[in-house]
Amino acid sequence: MDINMLPDNPYLLLTPGPLSTTKSVKSVMLRDWCTWDEDYKSIVRELRERVLKLATADTQAYTSVLMQGSGTFSVEAVIGSMIPENGKLLVLANGSYGQRIAQIARYLHIQTLVNDSGEQAPPDLKKLEQTLQEDPEISHVSLVHCETTTGMLNPIKEVGRIVKQYNKTYFVDTMSSLGGIPFDIAEDDIDFVVTSSNKCIQGVPGFGIIIARRAELEKCKGRARSLSLDLYDQWKTMDIDDPGKWRYTSPTHTVRAFYQALMELEEEGGVAKRYERYSTNQRTLVQGMRELGFQTLLPDAYQSPIITSFLNPESEGYSFMDFYDRLKAKGFVIYPGKVTSAESFRIGNIGHVYPEDIKRLLEAVKVSMYWKS
Ligand SMILES: *Cc1c(COP(=O)(O)O)cnc(C)c1O
Repeated sequence: MDINMLPDNPYLLLTPGPLSTTKSVKSVMLRDWCTWDEDYKSIVRELRERVLKLATADTQAYTSVLMQGSGTFSVEAVIGSMIPENGKLLVLANGSYGQRIAQIARYLHIQTLVNDSGEQAPPDLKKLEQTLQEDPEISHVSLVHCETTTGMLNPIKEVGRIVKQYNKTYFVDTMSSLGGIPFDIAEDDIDFVVTSSNKCIQGVPGFGIIIARRAELEKCKGRARSLSLDLYDQWKTMDIDDPGKWRYTSPTHTVRAFYQALMELEEEGGVAKRYERYSTNQRTLVQGMRELGFQTLLPDAYQSPIITSFLNPESEGYSFMDFYDRLKAKGFVIYPGKVTSAESFRIGNIGHVYPEDIKRLLEAVKVSMYWKS
């Protein structure tokens, strides 16, 4: 089959996932797989090895687990499996994904404390130290790497240094950064990270990926507060009992697409090259938008290359939905704002999106600024 004969997507998604994927990623879903057959299990095994290498060079100390569902399901699997009954979680939050971690923990009746630095400020490291000093009951600390709510990039290394100084288990939600921003979780002393199939690795939605320090994962045995989200049991099945087999039905087509997406990440030159492309996209976007009179929500020093929040134009005539519809008609889907502290909208840079696409977007924005005329 000539995949170039398939119709193009009607628009480019400039959203933080699901995002625009390549035709080749979509096309490998055009066949069916048997979940207990060796063909399929070998794909799962290889996928687990490859995705682990994106997070760390220390493939002995760490392992990967795949979990059905969207990214939040995997966050919930980690929170619900890593914290013992008498444990306590300190959540560093500066956006809705940090708040969601706290919400999950409270749902599961886990003792939870939140240090919220506000949507436009990085975590307060002094306050973190003070909290860890004052509350020895805290056993685990969590942070979101790229807070997709705003586009803020949080200092995982600096936080990790303090967390480890106090000997706590460290969980980072790297949902919107793993595969798109270079880092090594062994170097940053992180115990658990999570991403999903439809973010920087550029697959389609359907499952999450957890990278865990083996020694910490082994402690999770018997701790889970949910059967289907039992991280330890999920790992034991696919790693030890029946390598490559998932507990319960696996998202076969999505898994195959993700495997293709991993190959394409490698072809692009790996995480470093992808980071370069996303960064060029983001700089091109911000420079062009500033020339058109838009302002970013965050100062450049806090900004990730993943997604950018822009303040709404201060014009009576501006309406996000009208602006959105005009851009969509021209082939671009942007994203509503999510911060509570300012009126804004967001534009993502991740997915099968190149600087030329951003330049075309800027042309489309220019002729869609009806409130100016
Ligand atoms: C996308 C995302 C999630 C997970 O969202 P789902 O809708 O459940 O896939 C969690 N954290 C961050 C930072 C994200 O960007």
